[in-house]
Amino acid sequence: MAIKQLTETIINQIAAGEVIERPASVVKELVENAIDAGATRIEIVTAGGGKNLIRVTDNGSGIPSNELSLAVSRHCTSKLTDDVHDIRALGFRGEALPSIGSVSRLSVKSRKAEADSGFEISVHGGRMDGPRPTPMNGGTIAEVRDLFFATPARLKFMKTDRAEASAISDVVKRVAIAFPHIRFSIAGSDRTPLDLAATGEGSAGMLERISQVLGKEFPENAIAIDAMRDGVRLTGFAGIPAFNRANSLHQFAYVNGRPVRDKQIWGAIRGAYADVISRDRHPVVVLFLNLDPALVDVNVHPAKADVRFRDPGLVRGLIVGAIREALGQSGIRAATSGAEAMLNSFRLGGREPSPPGVTGQHWQGARAVNQNYHVQRSPYRPLEPESGFKNSENGFAETVQTFLYDRAEALAADARAGTIEVAPDLLSNPLGAARAQIHANYIVSQTKDSLVIVDQHAAHERLVYEALKNALHSRPLPAQMLLIPEIVDLPEEDVERLVAHAETLARFGLGIESFGPGAVAVRETPSMLGEIDTPQLIRDLADEIAEHDTSNGLKAILDHVAATMACHGSVRSGRRLKPDEMNALLRQMEETPGSGTCNHGRPTYIELKLSDIERLFGRR
Ligand code: ADP
Ligand code: MG
Repeated sequence: MAIKQLTETIINQIAAGEVIERPASVVKELVENAIDAGATRIEIVTAGGGKNLIRVTDNGSGIPSNELSLAVSRHCTSKLTDDVHDIRALGFRGEALPSIGSVSRLSVKSRKAEADSGFEISVHGGRMDGPRPTPMNGGTIAEVRDLFFATPARLKFMKTDRAEASAISDVVKRVAIAFPHIRFSIAGSDRTPLDLAATGEGSAGMLERISQVLGKEFPENAIAIDAMRDGVRLTGFAGIPAFNRANSLHQFAYVNGRPVRDKQIWGAIRGAYADVISRDRHPVVVLFLNLDPALVDVNVHPAKADVRFRDPGLVRGLIVGAIREALGQSGIRAATSGAEAMLNSFRLGGREPSPPGVTGQHWQGARAVNQNYHVQRSPYRPLEPESGFKNSENGFAETVQTFLYDRAEALAADARAGTIEVAPDLLSNPLGAARAQIHANYIVSQTKDSLVIVDQHAAHERLVYEALKNALHSRPLPAQMLLIPEIVDLPEEDVERLVAHAETLARFGLGIESFGPGAVAVRETPSMLGEIDTPQLIRDLADEIAEHDTSNGLKAILDHVAATMACHGSVRSGRRLKPDEMNALLRQMEETPGSGTCNHGRPTYIELKLSDIERLFGRR
C-alpha cells in the first residue's frame, strides 16, 4: 500500500483513542475547559452512563462566534503562548474538542456576555456544521451525544451505565476539590444527583469542599499538612491511619491545581504510611503540590494525568517527611468514625424495639465497626491465663512493659475489679484517667470532656512494635533461651531465606539455625514476646521475608519482621490490670508516636465526646 497522508478525521480519532478512554474522560475535558474559562458554576447532565448524553453548561467567558470553528479544530488553543514549559491552564493541547467531535455527535454553543446572541457549532463523526446563531445566556454549553458511535470497537469496552456514571462522579469530585469556589452539580436519569455548593476561598473553603466530597468525618480524622522544601510547597490533609479504606480511590493529589494520578506520588504516600497501615488498606489523603511550572512537566500523556518532576527525589522526600511528621505530631488520635458508626448503630437499635430479652440486634452496627477483628479468631488471641507471661529480668523489657505485673497481683486485681478512684490531675491528659477495666481487655477512661475506651491488646501490640523498632537502632533485644530447641519444618526456600537473615533476627532476640534442608532449629526467642507459638512465628516471618526480600531492601524487611513479632507477642488481652498499670499504659500510648492504631491500622482506642453521649440520650 502506498504511503498517504491520513485524513483529519482519522487523525482526530487516533488522538481520541488516547484522550477519550471512556465517558468520564469526556467529562474531565469539558469540565477542565469550563474551569479554564473562569466559570463559577458548572452543571453536568448525563444519560446512559454518559454514553447517550453528556452536557456540560458553564457560566464562563464564552467563545467568540468567529473562533467557534477553531475551537473544534485540531491543535487550536487559546491557552498556550510560545513556551510549552509554562503551562498554567488545565488544557493546552487543543485536541479535546476535535477528538470528542470525531467519535460522537458534538455540539458547542457559546456566547460572550457582551455578544448579541449565542452561536452553535456541531461536529458529527468529524464533520463540522455551523456556526449558526442560537439564543442562550452567557457561557458555554458543550453537548456530546452517542459517544463512540463512530468507533464501535471502543464502545464494546464500556462498562455498565452505573459504573460509567459513577466514574463520571469520581472525575468531577476529584477536580472539584481543587476548585472550591466553583459550584458543581451532576444530574441525570442514570444517577443520584450531586450538588457541591461553592465554598469560600482559602484554606477554610478548601476544607469545606473536601468535607463535601469525602464526608465530614474526614477533616475530623485528618491532620493538616503545610510543608515547604526548595521551592516546592506541600499542603493538604493526611488521614489518620485508623481512618483507612480498602482501595486507593480516596487519595487525591494535585500538582499546581491539576488533578493527577501519579505513580511516584502514590508510592510516596504508601511509603509514608508503611509503618502504620497494613498493606491491604489505604489511607485517605488530599495533597496539593505547588511549584514553579518549569520544574514539572505535565505534557507526558494526552490525558494530562501523569506528571514528571524535575527532581522526583525532592518531591518524594517532601511528601514522606511531611506526612510522617504530621502523623507523629498528632500523637495519638483515634478514628472518631468508629465513634460515629457506633452512634449510628445505637440510633438504629433504638428505632426498632427489640423483643423482650433480646438485645443482640442493638449491637449489630457497633460490632460492624470492628468487623475485621475477632479476638478468638486472631492468631494473636490471648493466652489462657494459666500460661502466664514470663517477665524478663532485663531493664529494657521492663520499661516496655511498665504496665506488666505478675500473676499473683493480677488475681488480686481481679478481685478488686470495679471502678477506680479518679485522679483529678490525670483528667487533662489526652487519654485521661483510667476508671475501670472491663471484659479483661478494655480500659475505660475519662477525660475532661469524653469517654475513652482502649483496646489494650491492640495498644500493646503497637507499643511492642515501636519498642522493637527502637531496639534495632540501639542494642539487640534480650533473648530467652529455650531448654529444648524447637524444630520447625519448612519448605527449603523458606529455610534458606530465614537462615540468610539469621543475624538480623538475632538482633530481635530470635536465635535460629538451619536444621537440615527442610527445617530450622529455634534456640532463643525474644524475651519481650513471652510465651509464643514459635512455629507460627517462624512461618509468618518466612512469608514476610519472602514478600519483601527482593523489592524493598533490609529496612522494609526489618519493619515487617518487627510487626510480625509484635503480633505474636501481644498477649495483653485477657490480662487484668491494676489502676496504676492502666494509667501507665495510657501514658505510654500518649508518648508513643503512631499508637492510635495497631499495626494493622485498626484503632487502639475510641473516644466518645460527652456531646456525642448526650446526643445518644437525645439531650442535644
Ligand atoms: P484546550 O483546552 O487544550 O485548549 P480544547 O479542544 O479542549 O483544547 O478546547 C479548544 C479551545 O476552545 C480552548 O483553548 C478554548 O479557547 C475554547 N473552549 C473550549 N471550551 C470552552 C469553554 N467551556 N469556555 C470557553 N472557551 C472554551
Ligand atoms: Mg481542553
